[in-house]
Amino acid sequence: MSPIIITVMGLGAATLLWLFFRPPFGKNIVRLNTDKRIVALTYDDGPSPPYTDQLLDVLAKHNVKATFFMIGKRIERHPETVNRVIAEGHQIGNHSYSHPVLGFLPPFYVQRQIERTDDLIRQHAVVEEIVFRAPMLTRFLPVAYVLAKLDRTHISCNVWSWDWTTQNPDKITETVLKKTLSSTRAGSIIVLHDGKAENKNANRSGTIEATDRIITALKRDGYQFVRLSDVRKTAISNQQSAGRFGFMKIK
Ligand SMILES: [Zn+2]
Repeated sequence: MSPIIITVMGLGAATLLWLFFRPPFGKNIVRLNTDKRIVALTYDDGPSPPYTDQLLDVLAKHNVKATFFMIGKRIERHPETVNRVIAEGHQIGNHSYSHPVLGFLPPFYVQRQIERTDDLIRQHAVVEEIVFRAPMLTRFLPVAYVLAKLDRTHISCNVWSWDWTTQNPDKITETVLKKTLSSTRAGSIIVLHDGKAENKNANRSGTIEATDRIITALKRDGYQFVRLSDVRKTAISNQQSAGRFGFMKIK
């Protein structure tokens, strides 16, 4: 095969991979649009009692509101926990129905996963806009396509706690504070986990203890805590391109 054909094929494959993994359309929010000391705590993969309840106790102690990206089938299993999260003034987001890696699945399935969980959330609360975060933060082509079609934004993050790899509270606290306190990180969206997608009984004590310490340290530094709905309209996107992608005719 001639070197030219090999080069063209290589470039074609690279372009397809780029389109799939980093679709250049749709909105993906990674942090809040502020240079003030404001952060958003977000918790994924719940509701997961008793850990979600213990976490709510810690948040209440500090009078801090957070955003919980819940898995639909766990909403079905623990409605009382969902009600408590809402009653205490926190925001609920959509984290799919069963936590598959949506980016590798067909668009109709992605849409079903999102809408099924929207319906469950609306059974618990009247919400103007339900924010969505894909499992594993995989905003790959099928996810970006469906979100653009539904005119919805993906909520990512810029501070990873890595609490899905460790429940050592020292490590989680250190990781989050190091990233959040660096000067370029004002408006951080911090991702933590009150549940674990692969194991519904996983212990989240480390995350809860770390939350207590993180809030204490950030408050001492003058930080305020917001729900995503408090700042949604001013949040920035790292990809400002509108939901248009030529031949795909996204409506
Ligand atoms: Zn998750």
